[in-house]
Amino acid sequence: MILDADIKAQLAQYLQLMEGDVLLKVSAGADDVSRDMLALVDELASMSSHIKVEQAELPRTPSFSVNRIGEDTGITFAGIPLGHEFTSLVLALLQVSGRAPKADQKVIDQVKSIKGEYHFESYISLSCHNCPDVVQALNLMSVLNPNITHTMIDGAAFKEEVERKDIMAVPTVFLNAEPFGSGRMTLEEILAKIGTGPDASEFSDKEPFDVLVVGGGPAGASAAIYAARKGIRTGIVAERFGGQVMDTMGIENFISVKYTEGPKLVASLEEHVKDYGIDVMNLQRAKRLEKKDFVELELENGAVLKSKTVILSTGARWRNVGVPGEAEFKNKGVAYCPHCDGPLFAGKRVAVIGGGNSGVEAAIDLAGIVSHVTVLEFMPELKADAVLQDRLYSLPNVTVLKNVQTKEITGTDKVNGISYIDRATEEVHHVELEGVFVQIGLVPNTDWLGETIERTRFGEIVVDRHGATNIPGVFAAGDCTNSAYKQIIISMGSGATAALGAFDYLIRN
Ligand SMILES: Cc1cc2nc3c(=O)[nH]c(=O)nc-3n(C[C@H](O)[C@H](O)[C@H](O)COP(=O)(O)OP(=O)(O)OC[C@H]3O[C@@H](n4cnc5c(N)ncnc54)[C@H](O)[C@@H]3O)c2cc1C
Repeated sequence: MILDADIKAQLAQYLQLMEGDVLLKVSAGADDVSRDMLALVDELASMSSHIKVEQAELPRTPSFSVNRIGEDTGITFAGIPLGHEFTSLVLALLQVSGRAPKADQKVIDQVKSIKGEYHFESYISLSCHNCPDVVQALNLMSVLNPNITHTMIDGAAFKEEVERKDIMAVPTVFLNAEPFGSGRMTLEEILAKIGTGPDASEFSDKEPFDVLVVGGGPAGASAAIYAARKGIRTGIVAERFGGQVMDTMGIENFISVKYTEGPKLVASLEEHVKDYGIDVMNLQRAKRLEKKDFVELELENGAVLKSKTVILSTGARWRNVGVPGEAEFKNKGVAYCPHCDGPLFAGKRVAVIGGGNSGVEAAIDLAGIVSHVTVLEFMPELKADAVLQDRLYSLPNVTVLKNVQTKEITGTDKVNGISYIDRATEEVHHVELEGVFVQIGLVPNTDWLGETIERTRFGEIVVDRHGATNIPGVFAAGDCTNSAYKQIIISMGSGATAALGAFDYLIRN
């Protein structure tokens, strides 16, 4: 049996929701993965009379496609979709069987209207929590549009292919055999990337807002909900709704919730925001802010939105080390998310740049997967908490280099090493390795504001205790401000403060 009893019980309930017959076309060989895949397929077929199985020759072995009877949908799983991809398999079965997907009707119509051939391939690992969103979005597109196909490929089952294509981060997506993108992508983001997203004309006729929030992380969501609850016209412009929380695995300090996961928290935030009829303009990047009669916000797509007040909550992003090789080898050995990309470096040698809490946590995490971890810390001592340092030093396959400055990430077509300067002796050393994880903190997303708003020398927006900036009517909240600590709950609190501050401003002016 490939599925344990608990999963089987859950699965049985889901399979009852199937609305029509589904044909699994299976391409199997004599290898172990093929054997397990056949076991899975047989188990599925034994659990629902709607699931039929047929032998076939598909481009990859082992793989199976999920089809309607008499019509291929284009959805293929190469490898075994268990682990984080099990949900992707269940959703594919349900959607191919005819069950309506849970997506916005607007988005569904958009997918259906796509013309031209789109053949997607996504490389994933079963332990990657960012991958299922991409797999499920592409599967959904395949279900809805006969010109779109998608194959999910488990990197662990297709090692040679992954090596040949130099894939060093998951998910990595190819479109029509050309690199398309990597990292978490929502359906809307994929649509925007293939050029079917909304354009400026959709925004040009919008009435001025009372409160316009820029940024859709916890700070922005909280600000928008607090504002909308005052019964005033509220909008959110977000480059990517959810913000950093989308990239967060386990969250254990969101008070009153003992444990949750980033994407789950983002789904709740979205649901809460939508409950108030807030105008959410997702996948839109703000590029300029100007105070006139209204505060005017220009978007990357050229549209200009007007509002009586604006709350800036654009958060922060991973800090780059800024050495030669970092940009060049991004996703070719340079990575930022140990949880996502760690498994791709199984048995290989990696470095972690940064000896703070996130760097040391990453090193501990990676040490369990890779053959060796080198930690590089600029200062003479690690900055991580003592418990983490104790754990790190107890590991046999970790080397800690302190008082060193990263000089260069070296490589040809992918990373092959890292050079650093010993700050005491000024000698340059080189370590041969295959991966570098950069873990040196965050920078606020405020560059686009230029000189319009007062910021600290780190680029953080300066706010007072009402969340107000130096420009009347412009407020700010969360990680993009000079708040002492950067946490979800703190961002939400400051979002609430900024919204109440903005409301106060509105009733006085
Ligand atoms: C890997 C990781 C793990 C973490 N774990 C935890 C944890 O366990 N507990 C905890 O409390 N905190 C954790 N944090 C910190 C927490 O995620 C942040 O403090 C929090 O998300 C900050 O919220 P925010 O709304 O201020 O900004 P963000 O979450 O960064 O959101 C910013 C928003 O602004 C948008 N944006 C940016 N620029 C523009 C622009 N020009 N135009 C339009 N939109 C824009 C972004 O797309 C996004 O929607 C973690 C962070 C990371 C990276």
